[in-house]
Amino acid sequence: MPSIFTKIANGDIPSYKIAESEKYYAFLDINPVAKGHTLVIPKMEVDDIFELDDETLMGLHLFSKGVAHAIKKTIPCLRIGTTVIGLEVPHAHIHLIPINGVHDIDFKKPKLDYTKEEFQDIAAKIAANYNS
Ligand code: 5GP
Repeated sequence: MPSIFTKIANGDIPSYKIAESEKYYAFLDINPVAKGHTLVIPKMEVDDIFELDDETLMGLHLFSKGVAHAIKKTIPCLRIGTTVIGLEVPHAHIHLIPINGVHDIDFKKPKLDYTKEEFQDIAAKIAANYNS
């Protein structure tokens, strides 16, 4: 049974896509803690990020670097915070979160609510900066 993130990367479940390569896929988190909160996954389905082979783990971080630059260009913030949690979805992923302070990366606070159009707009703007 493929993970929900494999289904997203395969296009079987819709997502607000930011960027894609042969091995990696970036898309907006559906329950963002901050505007522009993005998830980056390897297409290879492995649960624990630290069980990825070295090359895939390194590639995931390098791919995330490009995505983080695009988010930073798009969403006013001091930093792109990164975190790995992995308690909800058993498919390795990195959270990229625009932050102005440590409170912006608090997963216990209420999630932000965007309309489909707002999600599309955020994703399109980050994707345009990724491709520029
Ligand atoms: P974690 O596994 O890192 O604890 O949390 C998984 C993250 O994936 C959460 O932030 C959650 O909002 C996000 N998420 C879960 N299901 C989906 C989904 O179907 N689509 C998207 N875009 N994000 C999801």
